[in-house]
Amino acid sequence: MPIIRVALDVPVDTLFDYRAPDATASDIGRRVLVPFGRKTAIGVLLEISNAAAVPAERLKEALRVLRDLPPLASDDLQLIRFAADYYRHPLGMAVMGALPTRLRRVAGLSQPRRRGVYRLTPAGLALDAAALPLRALAQRRVLDRLRQGPLALAEARTLAADAGPLLRLFARRGWITLEEDISPGPPLSAIIAPTPVLTAEQTRAVAEICDRLKEYRTLLLLGVTGSGKTEVYLHAIAAALKAGKQALLLVPEIALTPQLDALVAQRFPGTRMVSLHSGLAESERLEHWRAARSGQARIVLGTRLAVFAPLPDLGLIVVDEEQDGSFKQAEGFRYSARDLAVVRARQRGVPIVLGSATPALETYHNALTGRYSLLTLSSRIGAPPPRIACIDTRGESLVEGLSQRLLAALRERVTLGEQSLIFINRRGYAPVLMCRACGWISGCSRCSAQLVLHLAERHLRCHHCGHVSGTPVACPGCGNADLSPVGQGTQRVEAALAQHLPGARVLRIDRDTTSRRRAWQAMRERIRDREVDVLVGTQILAKGHDFPHLNLVGVLNADSRLYSNDFRAAERLYALLSQVAGRAGRGGTQGDVLIQTEFPQHPLYAALSRQDYRAFADSALAERRQAGFPPFVYQAMLRAEAPRLSTALEFLVEAARLGSTLDSRVTTYDPVPAAMPRRAGRERAQLLVQSESRSQLQQFLRAWHVKLAPLRASRARWSLDVDPLEF
Ligand code: ADP
Ligand code: ZN
Ligand code: ZN
Repeated sequence: MPIIRVALDVPVDTLFDYRAPDATASDIGRRVLVPFGRKTAIGVLLEISNAAAVPAERLKEALRVLRDLPPLASDDLQLIRFAADYYRHPLGMAVMGALPTRLRRVAGLSQPRRRGVYRLTPAGLALDAAALPLRALAQRRVLDRLRQGPLALAEARTLAADAGPLLRLFARRGWITLEEDISPGPPLSAIIAPTPVLTAEQTRAVAEICDRLKEYRTLLLLGVTGSGKTEVYLHAIAAALKAGKQALLLVPEIALTPQLDALVAQRFPGTRMVSLHSGLAESERLEHWRAARSGQARIVLGTRLAVFAPLPDLGLIVVDEEQDGSFKQAEGFRYSARDLAVVRARQRGVPIVLGSATPALETYHNALTGRYSLLTLSSRIGAPPPRIACIDTRGESLVEGLSQRLLAALRERVTLGEQSLIFINRRGYAPVLMCRACGWISGCSRCSAQLVLHLAERHLRCHHCGHVSGTPVACPGCGNADLSPVGQGTQRVEAALAQHLPGARVLRIDRDTTSRRRAWQAMRERIRDREVDVLVGTQILAKGHDFPHLNLVGVLNADSRLYSNDFRAAERLYALLSQVAGRAGRGGTQGDVLIQTEFPQHPLYAALSRQDYRAFADSALAERRQAGFPPFVYQAMLRAEAPRLSTALEFLVEAARLGSTLDSRVTTYDPVPAAMPRRAGRERAQLLVQSESRSQLQQFLRAWHVKLAPLRASRARWSLDVDPLEF
């Protein structure tokens, strides 16, 4: 009897064996219902064999192979296997995590499905038609027809008047199953919406991408904001669709790119496009996933989780804003969707386009060394690049963080009826509340962080653990009633602007004002309709929005990231500021960007003001090479947390000892407290390992992980982060 190996959603590194009398190789990738402990669970059948890893008498029997959906294709499973292995995540959890929630749940399994095609099971195929009653002519007709291939109910009705009951009877006897129809999607229509005439650079980029659509290549599309990258994606997607392929378009956050969604839909009106992201309702997510799996959906637009979307005809992958940190999952299964997208393209032999104005240095480095092809769009379309200048704030007395020069510039734009944006990447009123008499500051008792003063909500809040407490009326340390808010957040800037720009309509846009559903949508409409003069906001405003009347951007408090301990801080700052700067002057007029800083000579600002990413990146890469940081080395971080720091550190010391015996070419650093040593009441520490070779590091991690497994029960909770972005 066949033994099946099943991936289950449990945190162990093994598959589970079951007996399954009716399973065949064609069931690989299908869901199965199995007994697990005292419960039943859904898993995915990954392997089938004749020998079991456990003694036969201990093997349980699988309850049912679920054949209602087409199985996960081996291509798609191959990607998940790679990811589980590379990021050291339990395979079962990785496989199950790639399925929509509905498909992971035992409850609701028996719901009948109306659409689909009927197919013979192995039992049905083996059936001798002579076994049917002689007079059952209709049954014989339907059975004969089924032997030639899948049959839809509509066709069955032409063969037998009572086709419905008859097919149900066959199904009850186990001869047939109802499966999703995987016939090709609706006919494709070419691009019909009016498209701009491509520039020479765009034409060249599209030609490069489409030149060899049947071959793996990674192409970096490097182009400043507004240089027409989206247009290049759309043309490449059109070519893939014409070749009968599906296209996968990955974006950082759907909520932030509603315009892209609409644009794609408008450009390919006859083509089914679906979105896949965590904001969808369960039923929608399932529906979209099935459309991708069946091939009905030809374009899939999604966030990082969509990298695992089942795509039988995948022909092109596009990753927009490829440098964005949200492509890396920060918890649990810590995969990088951007990196997995490249792996997937290679596995499937298709091109992948990584687009950005400010690529990750890893990506840019790969383009310089020739691993990736570099395509550039060097100028903005339709508008001159924004003028970017620094305002030297040394020795200036600022009004609530705002310089006179910035205020004057704002006033001028308001008078002209144009819009402006003040960018400050801090929510709340002030980052900390302080007593100048005794030095007390509002710290979070559960985190090594300060409580942020939210004046509108009249409370102090920790942005790390969510802890909230009322604003104290007097200093808890000395009783002083005069507490001072220190520093600026969006609320404070909003209040200051209202005061210093009388008559101007100010709108604050941050996570606090946009958390309600549709709030952000409504705000965008107000901005579009010019009901707002000055926007104050965080990085929500930095991303792909097109506000045609916005001509001035002011940047506050960026300096703190110039000299951070995190070696990626400058890279992120450059990317963020160039995105913010890209908001200015999209409507044809030249925009102005004013950056308030105490370091006006800093090379980062100098490169930014020339919009010279390559100058910035070349010097940043030279520094990385010198210091031995990625992309010149490969890293993994073992993270541990426990109620006491010593417990976490002890665990890491033991882990380091186990690692030191494995491979001398992998460097194991000393365990240290995390950059934020305490969060939500737990102490955190980390241990960095690195190597000049990715494959050596991978080998090391595999062996190390095996040695660490017995420490699962340690009092420290730990996890491994491969290619970590956070330090
Ligand atoms: P990016 O994605 O690089 O930020 P977009 O693709 O959004 O840039 O293009 C910026 C603007 O220029 C958009 O409004 C777009 O419609 C327009 N655009 C793009 N390509 C062309 C073109 N070849 N001719 C005219 N307008 C174009
Ligand atoms: Zn005090
Ligand atoms: Zn906290």
